[in-house]
Amino acid sequence: MNIRFEAFKTALAHRESERFDIPPKVSEYFGSMVFTYKAMRDYLPEYLYKQLAEAADKSTLMDKRIADHVASAMKAWAISKGATHYTHWFLPLNGATAEKHDAFFTPVEQNASIEYFDGSQLVQQEPDASSLPSGGLRNTFEARGYTAWDPSSPAFIMDGTLCIPTIFIAYTGEALDFKTPLLKTIGLIDEVAVEVCQMFDRSITRVYPTLGWEQEYFLVDEALFYARPDLTLTGRTLHGHAPARGQQMEDHYFGSIPQRVSAFMKDFETEAWKLGIPAKTRHNEVAPSQYELAPVYEEVNLAIDHNQLAMVLMDKVARKHHFRVLFHEKPFAGVNGSGKHNNWSLATNTGKNLLSPGHTPKTNLLFLTFFINIIKSVSEHPGLLRAAISSAGNDHRLGANEAPPAIMSMFIGKQLSAVIEEIEKKVKNRKMTPDEKTELKLNIGKIPRIILDNTDRNRTSPLAFTGNKFEFRAVGSSANCAPSMIVLNAILADRLRKFKKEVDALMAQQVDKDEAIFRILRKYIKESKHILFEGNNYSEEWVKEAEKRGLPNLKTTPEAMAYYVSDKTIQLFTENNILSERELHARYDIRMENYAKVLQIESRVLGDLAGNHILPKATRYQNVLVENVRGLKEILSEKQFKEQAELQVHTISKISEHIISIKSDLGKMIQARKEANNIDDSAERAHAYCFRVLPFLEKIRYHIDKLEILIDDEMWSVPKYRELLFVK
Ligand code: ADP
Ligand code: MG
Repeated sequence: MNIRFEAFKTALAHRESERFDIPPKVSEYFGSMVFTYKAMRDYLPEYLYKQLAEAADKSTLMDKRIADHVASAMKAWAISKGATHYTHWFLPLNGATAEKHDAFFTPVEQNASIEYFDGSQLVQQEPDASSLPSGGLRNTFEARGYTAWDPSSPAFIMDGTLCIPTIFIAYTGEALDFKTPLLKTIGLIDEVAVEVCQMFDRSITRVYPTLGWEQEYFLVDEALFYARPDLTLTGRTLHGHAPARGQQMEDHYFGSIPQRVSAFMKDFETEAWKLGIPAKTRHNEVAPSQYELAPVYEEVNLAIDHNQLAMVLMDKVARKHHFRVLFHEKPFAGVNGSGKHNNWSLATNTGKNLLSPGHTPKTNLLFLTFFINIIKSVSEHPGLLRAAISSAGNDHRLGANEAPPAIMSMFIGKQLSAVIEEIEKKVKNRKMTPDEKTELKLNIGKIPRIILDNTDRNRTSPLAFTGNKFEFRAVGSSANCAPSMIVLNAILADRLRKFKKEVDALMAQQVDKDEAIFRILRKYIKESKHILFEGNNYSEEWVKEAEKRGLPNLKTTPEAMAYYVSDKTIQLFTENNILSERELHARYDIRMENYAKVLQIESRVLGDLAGNHILPKATRYQNVLVENVRGLKEILSEKQFKEQAELQVHTISKISEHIISIKSDLGKMIQARKEANNIDDSAERAHAYCFRVLPFLEKIRYHIDKLEILIDDEMWSVPKYRELLFVK
């Protein structure tokens, strides 16, 4: 039996036909499985509802008595929706979501039970969870980890379980998750951005980051998926010859969505809407079988929870349709990989987007203040930003002329470049004349108009301004958005604080406010211009130019992660009280260890595949050819044989070459792996895997892919790219 053909048959049987049922209106059930403000109101007395709503806005803690009431309301609501269990739902550092379900059901006396859930169960739990990564923060004697309720992200019901979003911290108070530092940076932004806003507009009393993510993914038939051990075990294909037809026809992007895929998308969206995920856009992506999902943007903490939840949900729903979702950044060589664009901006209590220019010079000066502070903050930490998005998977994608390069730079468009240039030229370090000021302000007043007709878009830039937000395009598709958002929030908050100080200092010297702001902005422009690049980020010239400008070009995770624990980063995180040096190092260790583990698994799987699947098939086919040559020799004249057997003999020796290369590289790879495994230090081990093991994966793959086109198709037992990418 050829596993590949069996899988292929099954995959064909999985196809779905069109459905014509009329679904209910979305607005009727959107958020029906979320403990929304509306649900709180239904289940709580008014004064408690108000306190809870306030805690949700400000992410404050609640006293035990109130928590008891809220718990009881939540329980009643959840049970009315059919929930039987509850769990604290959190985002540990392995990048997944974690949950441990407990039943409401509690036996009370013989043969009787009640549904029990009180404030202490809502507010804090102590899941054992000692196997989750802690980077050494939890030694066994202090192994306790706590989860604590985050009222700023609402509870929801999934699969009959009430899920309560929480932070996850060690007994010592050190953060073991993504949410804890994220919430700290959200608080910081609120504190310092409001101070800066108040220089322009007294009515702004709250500022929060917003995030709109765009999730790319592949769908692969489940039968074919299971027939590929590399996909099943590593999430990506470790070999596979490019199909005769790839993405060169450019007909998949935005094309009509295949029936079975659309059935999956509809089912997913229905479930997502019930959970309050504002899924809005779906379309085909560039590569065959690649798609994108984008919701409406939300407050960043909620958006991140929703992204994590969406990934879990997509996986569940896809299985119902006999699909598997691939979130890996590069599941197939030779076709586009997947990213997760993070659209990031800042919103205020007054309904304003701080990165959206206004209609007057005053509001535009507010816009420019934030805009230029962001540029300055990124120019100070390009390495850290690169570190934030680094992973073994994303390394395959960055710099592959389909995703942004590993060099972090910013694109702001022609018009804003001109505005910035004008400020740089016209603002003086002396008192400006009234005429100079008026001219500058007039020009600044024109910004919204020019941005509206701003059509220039640069698809190659890692961090692009797109009219009213920055789009961070380098984030990997499987990543949690939090590390990227933490860095962007943190560097901006840090910069805004310093900006305010510098402006205050000038004002103390009797410089008027606008002029003080202009002068500092001008200084920032001068200091940070080198991070701006408007050209083609994929070009060779840019690599050289960036080097001249001193911008880091960090091609691999181990190199990039050094910036995660640099003095500058440690200072940034500790001064702003986001993470301690120990916490940063713990995160660094986890990432480096994870990197080495991913490569270890990939290398083992490729070893198995080459040894147990590829080489036996290659040898068997070679034997067929050898038999054939023998037979020819028997029946042909010597002259005929010479002519006709030549090609066969050539193929036989080609196959031999590849077999020998694979065998020899396999031996070397195993040796390199052994040496790497013997290294104690996680950073050194990651380096060894990166520079001494990974090159063999590429080499071995090269020869396997050559064999794939030499060997009889009927003998090849793992699904080929054409089947994985085109059957749906
Ligand atoms: P495109 O960039 O493809 O032209 P849009 O401008 O509509 O499309 O936005 C793309 C993504 O940016 C969407 O996910 C959207 O939710 C998000 N987005 C729009 N405005 C903001 C904002 N103020 N803050 C964060 N994300 C935003
Ligand atoms: Mg985009």
